[in-house]
Amino acid sequence: MLQRTLSIIKPDAVRNGFTGAILAEIHRAGFRIVAIGKQSISKPEAEGFYAVHSGKPFFDSLTGFMSSGPLILMVLEKDNAIADLRKLMGATDPANAEEGTIRKKFAGSIQENAIHGSDAEETAAFEIGYWFAGYELI
Ligand code: GDP
Repeated sequence: MLQRTLSIIKPDAVRNGFTGAILAEIHRAGFRIVAIGKQSISKPEAEGFYAVHSGKPFFDSLTGFMSSGPLILMVLEKDNAIADLRKLMGATDPANAEEGTIRKKFAGSIQENAIHGSDAEETAAFEIGYWFAGYELI
């Protein structure tokens, strides 16, 4: 089933010069880039995006990190996009990520882990709508 997911190349990966290499991995895995933009987000914007994590001890640190520099926001499309991107990303903590995954190759820590991908259909719908308007998604 053709599906869309929201992905972010996080500020650590952009800062470290990995944007092109990560886009190449995404392209090679068969995703179509429906929409893409480089943007710096504010802490309140990051807090809204990660609202499901608002009770977690790392919430302040995570939202501070996400608003610490430019990131790349993308909507990606392919069959089974949500699960396939999660597989390509690897485990949240790069120390546990499988060989060949984006986080294994490009992430430095459990927080600064290079890439975000929606984890379910409902979260993908919320996350895509959070950052993109309908006219940007044609
Ligand atoms: P994901 O779906 O693999 O991105 O992981 P989660 O939804 O569980 O967490 C969202 C993001 O919060 C992760 O990608 C990390 O950037 C960050 N994060 C998760 N767990 C931790 C943690 O234990 N400590 C810190 N500092 N950040 C974390």
